[in-house]
Amino acid sequence: MSRKRIIAGNWKMNMTPSEAVKLVEELKPLVVNDDVDVVYCVPAIDIVPVVEAVKGTNVQVGAENFYIEDKGAYTGEISAPMLVDAGVKYVIIGHSERRDYFKEDDTFLNKKVKKAIEAGLTPILCCGESLEQRELGVTMDWIRLQIKSDLAGVASDDVKKLVIAYEPIWAIGTGKTATSDQAQEVCKGIRDLIAEIYDAPTAEAVRIQYGGSMNAGNAAELLAKPDIDGGLIGGASLKAEFGQVVNA
Ligand code: PEP
Repeated sequence: MSRKRIIAGNWKMNMTPSEAVKLVEELKPLVVNDDVDVVYCVPAIDIVPVVEAVKGTNVQVGAENFYIEDKGAYTGEISAPMLVDAGVKYVIIGHSERRDYFKEDDTFLNKKVKKAIEAGLTPILCCGESLEQRELGVTMDWIRLQIKSDLAGVASDDVKKLVIAYEPIWAIGTGKTATSDQAQEVCKGIRDLIAEIYDAPTAEAVRIQYGGSMNAGNAAELLAKPDIDGGLIGGASLKAEFGQVVNA
């Protein structure tokens, strides 16, 4: 497999700027690994100090959000060109918390994916089913709908570069992890879908992460699966344990 692994932390709404710099310093010796792309997706206010703090390391910085316009009267928003200028390389799009609490739907997320790519950011596009959907047996139908809608009109060369994160909603922040077989089954399903919409080389190139209570104890088993190319990590990204996940 030629895909480079990618372990990304999603700090969510945690860490003041000074706490953020302290965490980066603490993690510095623990996340050194040239075989893996390491990304910290941080709150907007932490971006500038964290970009500065990771200089000279193997860590890249991601944003957790942005707005689809480049500039203008959108009080409180941050644009993709602003993120790029600040040194951001990745951006999370379609996290279940934004879909749920901020009502971001697939039409809007499709615009975000396109804008991120146009600006030169790598989207980490999240998808995932609720517990009810899993129990109803519609997991893959739901995820296919999300991915097809979110990637509508996106060219295969751009899809090759993006990261898709499979995050079952019932496993996020709950301490419940999907089994490695459940996670592999859906990640493979996503790769098969990319082959269906695009072609085999695109499916082979796209990196697919698992996210949902991944930690030092379960990362190695999940990451050993052929279609799981990395992890999107919430809780465990805020502590020294993140180093163990990177090196798993
Ligand atoms: C997430 O928020 O993307 C996530 C996977 O969180 P956690 O690891 O805490 O479940």
